[in-house]
Amino acid sequence: MTLEAELQSNRDEATGPLVEVRDLKKHFFEGDNILDRLLGNGPVAIRAVDGVSFDIHRGETLGLVGESGCGKSTTGETVLRLQEPTDGTIRFDGDPILDMGGSDLLSFRRNAQIVFQDPYTSLDPRVPVGETVREALDIHGIGTLEERNERVRDLLERVGLSEDQFDRYPSEFSGGQRQRIGIARALSLNPDFLVLDEPTSALDVSVQAQILNLLNDLQEEFNLTYLLISHDLSVIRHICDRVAVMYLGEIAEVADVDTLFESPKHPYTEALLESVPRAETAERDRDIETLRGDVPSPRNPPSGCRFRTRCPQIIQPAGLDIDQQSYREVMHFRELVEGGEISIHKLAEDAGLSGLEEDDQELNSRETRAFVEEVKEDVLATEVTGTPEQVVDEAIGHLAEADWESAAAVLREEFESVCETDNPELSEDSQPVACHLYES
Ligand code: SF4
Repeated sequence: MTLEAELQSNRDEATGPLVEVRDLKKHFFEGDNILDRLLGNGPVAIRAVDGVSFDIHRGETLGLVGESGCGKSTTGETVLRLQEPTDGTIRFDGDPILDMGGSDLLSFRRNAQIVFQDPYTSLDPRVPVGETVREALDIHGIGTLEERNERVRDLLERVGLSEDQFDRYPSEFSGGQRQRIGIARALSLNPDFLVLDEPTSALDVSVQAQILNLLNDLQEEFNLTYLLISHDLSVIRHICDRVAVMYLGEIAEVADVDTLFESPKHPYTEALLESVPRAETAERDRDIETLRGDVPSPRNPPSGCRFRTRCPQIIQPAGLDIDQQSYREVMHFRELVEGGEISIHKLAEDAGLSGLEEDDQELNSRETRAFVEEVKEDVLATEVTGTPEQVVDEAIGHLAEADWESAAAVLREEFESVCETDNPELSEDSQPVACHLYES
């Protein structure tokens, strides 16, 4: 059998999605060593990917976008089984890949390849680039050596390099050229599916568009299916057909690329899009509702909706009369109270109550008032009025008695949101979104 025929033998004319991912989870465990067990500490799960589902149709590019650390790359590596998932199912061309072994797994690996982010570290500096591109063909024993070399020369040309560069070393190439070599390597086995993990983020802006255009051309030429992982929305818009927005290990929204950019639904998607610099003056001057705070740790993700600690549209309990900004301030205060993160001593001193101890001094009403005002001034950036103010004052009064539990309880009773008690599911409409604002 010729090399071309061997590489064609994997093709399947089946219809339906090429990749189907359902409830995929990848947790890493910390503190799972002998010392921790002797100390009675159980392992702590880091929920890098925590129940994501999506399809990728044949010939399309699905973008996976989100901030650094949201689980995009782990999702891509798990879909390729470069990492074993904790739970969930992955089907490739209809076949469940997690059950695969032997020749089936080998065949899957030929059909599903990856282009890494960093073209500087993903190539062995001691190996000529032609041999690097040929390596997978050697491993799979496809064709004769001459046929393999011929295919490598052809691939080098197709990615915009020259067959004369076969014997050159990576150090002789620019960043963009090295990424072209990485793409040629990924194409060597004639795969159907490529995971592109931040393929342009290590490159100069001037080179990025060239690589994206090359990926577009190759997709058409070889009928490739892509999962493109990127934090860069301009890259996503340039090349993707559909986009899945990830936040803290979960998918927040899925939409085709034009719909996502023109009518985002999820508050996180809206905030991501708002953070993109705009060229037009009027657009530049618009009010930007920026994302506040950092992404929480996947070791201890927030209850309910994972975006709730940063969401500018968090849903207030029915009947609460408070503006959104103040509500977010109070919710932040509540988090500090629940986490014991307020320095009572310092605030008491600032209020002129020197000598306040957490459990051995009763304040008179004047002193309590001074303490309440000090805490509000320190912790709340906006003024809260009416019933919400009375509840906040009552909670701070409990803090003055070092009664953290009662302080947290009164705040919870008045201010608890559905966004913190219930985790929204990804809806099943044409623009799936995981947000209580869109539940019927
Ligand atoms: S569920 Fe609530 S916190 Fe989450 S995005 Fe929607 S409104 Fe915001």
